[in-house]
Amino acid sequence: MSKDAKIVIVGAGQAGATLAQHLRTKGHEGPITMIGAEPALPYQRPPLSKAYLLGEMDLDSLFLRPQSFYDDHAVEMKLGMEVTAIDRQAKSLSLANGEGESQLAYDHLILTTGSDPIRLPAALGGHLPGIHVVRGLADIDGMEPDIVAGRKVLIVGGGYIGLEAAAVCAKKGLDVTLIEAAERILQRVASPQTSDYFRALHQSHGVKILENTRLERFLGEDRVTCALLADGTQLEADFVICGIGIRPASGLAEAAGLTVENGIWTNEFAQTSDPAIWAAGDCASFPYQGEQIRLESVGNAIDQAKIVAENILGAGKVYHAKPWFWSDQYDVKLQIAGLNKGYDRIVERDSGDGVLSLWYYKGEQLLALDAMNDPRAYMVGKRLIEAGQSADPAIVGNPDEDLKQLMQRRR
Ligand code: FAD
Repeated sequence: MSKDAKIVIVGAGQAGATLAQHLRTKGHEGPITMIGAEPALPYQRPPLSKAYLLGEMDLDSLFLRPQSFYDDHAVEMKLGMEVTAIDRQAKSLSLANGEGESQLAYDHLILTTGSDPIRLPAALGGHLPGIHVVRGLADIDGMEPDIVAGRKVLIVGGGYIGLEAAAVCAKKGLDVTLIEAAERILQRVASPQTSDYFRALHQSHGVKILENTRLERFLGEDRVTCALLADGTQLEADFVICGIGIRPASGLAEAAGLTVENGIWTNEFAQTSDPAIWAAGDCASFPYQGEQIRLESVGNAIDQAKIVAENILGAGKVYHAKPWFWSDQYDVKLQIAGLNKGYDRIVERDSGDGVLSLWYYKGEQLLALDAMNDPRAYMVGKRLIEAGQSADPAIVGNPDEDLKQLMQRRR
């Protein structure tokens, strides 16, 4: 690729910001333009349901880089602008910002459009004021006036976002009820033991957790006042936080005729079905152990973005995902390494005082681990998983055995 090729990044988030930086680090000299629908500079989303929502982190600390970084690296930022269409033949984009439309040409286009929170339809009362989602800064601004001690909040969804929001609300002295449609919280992502751990943690902070509990619809005149459950129960609420999942933001790609399969389809080089267009982060699916998967995590957004930057510059690198994730709830840090899909056995390492790790195996092979307040277990497990190695369950399951032995045995 010519050194002065024009690169356009659509989506000014975690992956977009990483891309701009990495393209410059790796020597790209041509123009880079980043377009973001939100008015803010690229920022970290994880604190939105943790320290930032709690009021323990200020806005400036959320930003991934200051404006001066983009100025110094000649990255043109077009914020508060939405890309509305891609003309692949002309290699040109249509942009809109409420004041009008414009066009922008590209040589290489990168889609880092992230994902959109799932909202309940208006027919089910999902449009009522007082129902919030947790995706962007504007959502937090909209929610803040509601987070007042003593008020009743209903959280819909017992995944990480819902549980983190519940922890913040409980810490702020709200009366918190969380409903989960599945048999248990975290069912989609974690073992029953992990669910048990977090259920007990929340209950110890006064959160009411109702599992196997389906929402029928929200009720209210000009604001939500109540949730009607499938069994006819009515739960009163001053406001609601919905954490019922996200959808990859693939509409733009689909309209442009790119292949969409569980998000924007990319090959092992992070290239879409159009060789001039790449994708990274929440919006992109990629091949992983025979499937086309998507990961919704900071680690994936960063690593995939770096691969795109290097491959645009001709590196020809395959994206090997190394999944990791974390969640903060009260004084518990959960760290996850690997993907537990297909596990048939769990080995539990319980060191007492809430220090617990759960190691997922398929046959003899270690697939993943969940570590609660156990950074040492996380570090050892992550290294083994990333190296494709396993861990002797006899050592893992005995908290008196030093996990370092597992690393020594590797060598
Ligand atoms: P984003 O950071 O979402 O950026 C996408 C950007 O693209 C958005 O700003 C969007 O407005 C813009 N965009 C979309 N379409 C267009 C368009 N047509 N034109 C212009 N701009 C467009 N991950 C973890 O690993 N650990 C955590 O603890 C964790 N906690 C989280 C907590 C919350 C509340 C949320 C919301 C996410 C959390 N995540 C966490 C997930 C992580 O933040 C995401 O995986 C990561 O931000 C994905 O980065 P991205 O660049 O793909 O998308």
